[in-house]
This record gives sequence, C-alpha cells and structure tokens, in this order.
Amino acid sequence: MDLIYRSTRDREETATASKAILKGLAADGGLFVPDEIPHLDVSLDDLAKMDYKEVAYEVMKLMLTDFTEEELKKCINGAYDSKFDDSLFVPVKYHHGAYVLELFHGKTIAFKDMALSILPYLMTTAAKKNNIKNEIVILTATSGDTGKAALAGFADVPGTKIAVFYPKNGVSPVQEKQMVTERGKNTFVAGITGNFDDAQTGVKQMFSNHDLAKSLDENGYQFSSANSINIGRLVPQMVYYIYGYTRLVAAGSIKAGDKINVVVPTGNFGNILASYYASLMGMPVNRFICASNDNKVLYDFFKTGIYDRNREFILTTSPSMDILISSNLERLIYRLAGNKSDKCAELLSELAKTGKYTITPEMKENMKAFYGNYASVDEVANEIRTIYEEDGYIVDTHTSVAMSVYDKYKEETGDEDTPAILASTASPYKFSRAVLDAINPEYDKKTDFELIDELKKLSGVKIPQAIEDIRTAPVLHKTVCKKEEMEKTVKNFLEIK
Ligand SMILES: *Cc1c(COP(=O)(O)O)cnc(C)c1O
Repeated sequence: MDLIYRSTRDREETATASKAILKGLAADGGLFVPDEIPHLDVSLDDLAKMDYKEVAYEVMKLMLTDFTEEELKKCINGAYDSKFDDSLFVPVKYHHGAYVLELFHGKTIAFKDMALSILPYLMTTAAKKNNIKNEIVILTATSGDTGKAALAGFADVPGTKIAVFYPKNGVSPVQEKQMVTERGKNTFVAGITGNFDDAQTGVKQMFSNHDLAKSLDENGYQFSSANSINIGRLVPQMVYYIYGYTRLVAAGSIKAGDKINVVVPTGNFGNILASYYASLMGMPVNRFICASNDNKVLYDFFKTGIYDRNREFILTTSPSMDILISSNLERLIYRLAGNKSDKCAELLSELAKTGKYTITPEMKENMKAFYGNYASVDEVANEIRTIYEEDGYIVDTHTSVAMSVYDKYKEETGDEDTPAILASTASPYKFSRAVLDAINPEYDKKTDFELIDELKKLSGVKIPQAIEDIRTAPVLHKTVCKKEEMEKTVKNFLEIK
C-alpha cells in the first residue's frame, strides 16, 4: 500500500508521493502531508555503517513509496555526485559545543542544494510515472538561496522551465549575482519591488488561480514548486539529520537511542520540520531548537501560542531568514491539531484575513518539544567573532543565528549535556561582507571580491567554485516587476497571452 499524502486543509484531497511532488501545493492552497511517517526499518547502528547515499535510500524509500528502488537509486546517484565539493556530502564538525552539519558543500553553497539537486530527478521521474505530457514550469519565490539552488538544479533539464522571483532589495549581492548570471536556456529570473513574503504570496496565488492553470494547460504547461512547500524538498532534507545522528553513533559520541538536540536557523520552517519528521521516523530527539533572527515571529509563537505576522518586516544580515509567513509551520499546526484539516484550514484562513491566529491550549501543550529564541544583528556579529576567536572556524550569518540561540538555550534551560546537532546552512563566502565586518570592522572598506580573498586568508578554506563562477559571469536577467505584475511576467516568459 502506498503512503498517502493529504492536503492540510481538506482531508479529501489526496495524492501519491509522485503526484504530490508534481503538484507542489494542493489545489485548495493547503500543503501535502503524509498520513503517517513510517518508522525506519533498519537499525540506527546499521545506518551508522552506511554512506550518505545509502542512508538517503533508506529514508526516501519509506516516504516516496510509489517510486521503485531503481528509480530512487537513479535519482540519488544523479544528485549526489561530484557537484558536491566534499566526498562525504555532509561533513560533521565539532565547534562551539555543537556538532555542526555542514550542509553547504553543493553547487550553490547553501543547504538548499541538499534537496534541490535531487528534486529535478524526482520531478522528471514523477512526470514520467504519471504520463504527464505538459512541460513542468517550476515557479519559485526566494529569499535568496532557494532561487539559485533551484535554477542550478533545473537548468536545461528537458521537459522543464523555471521562473524565480526574489525581493529586489532583500538579498545579498552574492545571492543576486548568482541568480542573474544563470545561463540555463529554460530559466527566467525577476526581482520584485517587495519583500520575500510578497514574492511568496504572489507565487501561491498563481498556484491556486484556476484560470491561469487552464490557460497554461492549453499551452502545454503546468506549474510545480521548488519551494519547501513541495514534499520533494522536505523528504531529502530528512536524510541529513538521520545521517548526522548516525555519524555521531559511528564516532562513538553517542549510543544508538541516545537523545540529541537539534538546532536549526529557521525561516520558512522547512528545514526544522524535516528534523521533526526525521524524529517521527525514529531519530531520538530531546528538543527542536528553532532559531530566528529579528523577524522573530516563530519565537513569539512558541512562547505564546499566537502567530502574529502584523509587524514590521526587518532586513537583517541573515536575509534567507527574513520571513514573517513561515509556510511550513502549517504542517506542524496540522499535526498539533491531531491531523484535523478543518482546524488547520480555520487557523490559516484566520491568518489570511487578520494576519494572526491563536492555537488551542491543547495544541500548545503538544509542541513542548520545540524551543524558540532569536538573535539580533549585533548578537549574530558577536557570535561570529567569538567562534572565530575560539578556534579559527568561520560561520556564516545564518549559522551564527543558530549558534547564538543555542547558547541562549543552554543558559536558559541548563541543558548543557544533551549533544546537539546544528544545521550550518550556508558557506561564509556567500555572506563575506557581514561575516568579515563581524570579525573586524576595518574590512568594510574593501570591495566584495577583495573580501572573498581576505576570507580565504583568514579561514584557510578554499574559495568555492560557485564564487569563482560569478566573478566574471555576465548579467543575463534584468527583469524587475511590481508584486502585482508577477502573473503577467510569467505569462510573458512562457509567451502566453
Ligand atoms: C533557506 C535558508 C534558511 C531557512 O531555512 P527554512 O527551511 O526556510 O527554515 C536558513 N539559512 C539559509 C542559509 C537558507 O538559505
């Protein structure tokens, strides 16, 4: 029997894994969630003896049950290869009291590569399985890192096109340059005059626009999503937590069955949700530590049970977490409400109308495993300097948010002893200016590319290919549009009237 995925807002809307990947978002605007999370059928000790690709298969076969073994292995082997600059794919390092999962060794040096290098394989396999004749148009909103990772993944993949919208003034210079220099012939990139939430809302509206779907279909197209609302992103993200946990077992740092803490710098709630799903699959977790920047809507939510996005949107040094509407929280809400789609739909419609909702005391009780806190821009900078001064290790601004919140967690709870896995989500090279400014304000006088050379001197870490690539690459995408014009812009790209 195949695992069934269901919309968070309507019990009756169901899909197999491959159909859920193709659709991205459910027709009612809800998110697909698995009816249950199957338990691992190999022991943690046995997983500790496997490499990344083998662990990936053991996890993914349970979640994507309508893919054959051959299909899944082909997807896994196609994704995790020499595109990654570390043969382990996810090296685990110990710094500042945490086991750091370095998730940034893929093509675009952010953790999004872990999932977006496999999503195109899953998507095209799913299209084949379901006899889809239309071309798949990937529609993506990005706070900076998803955009390039999705472009890199889908560039020149036959049967697909990809359109990416990013907040024109809300991403780092390196992030923007990476996107606008994309060469893939099937790619389209546009800045919007608005913030990430505007981009994400615009994209979600296009997904649930039936007229648009119809005219797309008439022209031989259909939309899908590369955002973390797609379960084809979430499932590959479960893998590295189980991989990380079992590396600690392999190294003798923990015994199989010991509980760990998981620390995740959070924006759209996809990455931390994947760790929660991994725990439901059998990875023993004590607390999920949700780290936010100054856009601390999740911190407030975990504290009060009230989700309230009615507040100022703050641009920080960790732009990939500058988000007030964390889409994937909907999947947690659904679970907290006992898998009741009507309760979930009620809260989300409240959010759409008033910008806030309050969960029931019972739901709040159900989320005690989550701990939220946040770090200000100054705290992030101080933390980068502190860690650097400890042992010469340099973290990016997002990872620093997580480190800083982990410090706060230990101080507040006294839980110093539970080993912690911390998701390091980007290479410091992606945010060189903020990172070096934190270490010494004198660096601010230098140009972006001088800073990259300085960072190399300081860290001793090789400059990633992704950075070398953009030094000389020409800008190929120059479109900027208003948030109201996103639909028109997509139609222009697809040459639809
Ligand atoms: C996307 C991103 C995040 C946030 O991840 P979510 O899954 O949206 O919570 C954190 N750090 C970096 C560097 C990112 O690119």
